[in-house]
Amino acid sequence: MMTALARRDRPRVLPGSLITLRRRCGKPTCRCATGSPHETPALSYSVGGRTKMLTLSAEEVPAVAAAVARYRKAVKALEAEARAELAELVARVEARRGSSRR
Ligand SMILES: [Zn+2]
Repeated sequence: MMTALARRDRPRVLPGSLITLRRRCGKPTCRCATGSPHETPALSYSVGGRTKMLTLSAEEVPAVAAAVARYRKAVKALEAEARAELAELVARVEARRGSSRR
């Protein structure tokens, strides 16, 4: 079942990273046989510990790149918030223990 989030055309946040796949297609007459390999943008992400690759069209890249950046920023912010909360909790508990012991 698709959620409203998944149905959106443009992803808001995406895990993983944008990469560029480079390969030679194997056709002897193709420019890649002698020149530079074909480049395909892709989203590399992991599901259950396994890395997956989703190739993207050039048009999809800006939205995916933005969503990946938003995800990283959000994760960083959440991590910072959690660390601050932890520091406060530790200080509170230590202060309580310190005063009750005396
Ligand atoms: Zn080729």
